[in-house]
Amino acid sequence: MYAKSMTYGRTQGVPPLLSIPSVQVSVRGPGFLCSLKKSRHSEYFMEVQTEERSEEPRDWRGLRAMLLNLKTKDAEAVAVWLRDAGYVCQTVPAKYSNQGDLLVPKRDVVSPEILRWVSICKDVIAWLMGLDRGYFADAVRIAQKSRANILSPKGQRKFVEEVSAPIQLEVLTLHRFLAGFGSAPALHAFFFWDAEGEASVAVDVSSPMEALAVSVHVDRSFTARRWASCRLCGSRFEQKKSTDLYCSEKCKNNFITTRRRQKISLLRQGDTAWRALPRVKHKRLDRQEWILQWAQRRFLEGKIDTAFAKKTLNEISKRKG
Ligand SMILES: [Zn+2]
Repeated sequence: MYAKSMTYGRTQGVPPLLSIPSVQVSVRGPGFLCSLKKSRHSEYFMEVQTEERSEEPRDWRGLRAMLLNLKTKDAEAVAVWLRDAGYVCQTVPAKYSNQGDLLVPKRDVVSPEILRWVSICKDVIAWLMGLDRGYFADAVRIAQKSRANILSPKGQRKFVEEVSAPIQLEVLTLHRFLAGFGSAPALHAFFFWDAEGEASVAVDVSSPMEALAVSVHVDRSFTARRWASCRLCGSRFEQKKSTDLYCSEKCKNNFITTRRRQKISLLRQGDTAWRALPRVKHKRLDRQEWILQWAQRRFLEGKIDTAFAKKTLNEISKRKG
């Protein structure tokens, strides 16, 4: 499953053969559906592969975005997400129902413990996706360094302090997402040429949640994808570029329209202020320039375009006659 730490690092210090920016990288989930088993050590779940085959490929980035928007109190919605991500969802047979540690999400109802686990993972992913690249790299380094002591309360306190993580995040889950799900930070990957002859790398993971963790690492290390707040409505969305500011086209258009209306309203008020000036001043000053400056002083969110102001003021004058 994981490379031993002995093999990990064997290439260190030797210059790489190539550094190819166009290699396709994908994450391959386990070939089997997973069930959830309560861990003896903490509140997180172990993901255990079942004998039921899993249909691949899955869109891990899409599943991650769905998780971040999931209402984790809605058991039915969580059950649907778990099934889409590759977890076994079925009614627990009566013979297992008293067995405390085997928790299989039911078809429509998910136990409160599983809801909590999903919510914990969601919070960790949301926090990590909001970090900038340098901060994320530091957090990974700290997590790897604290690997040996992470099960002790003292080690956990130190880790949280060094990473400056919000206290509501579950420590072991956060650590797992940063340091890797197994015993080593190295994952097995296949390097191959695909059917089109394109060089590809496929990283193998052993559970759906681990696939999401790897997708976070890929996006925080190599892409500009980030979890951000919409400039207009405040709802959270995934930025594909750092210049993406809105959750949707609708919000983008609304924001532009709102700003346009604000600017027009200010120019109109500026026109009223201009008319209130003594006539001597009208002779000395340029009307359009004076109003534009008046409005610009009150519009703090950006620059009012001169051509736009001119056109608007001409329309205002025309209407007033
Ligand atoms: Zn929005």
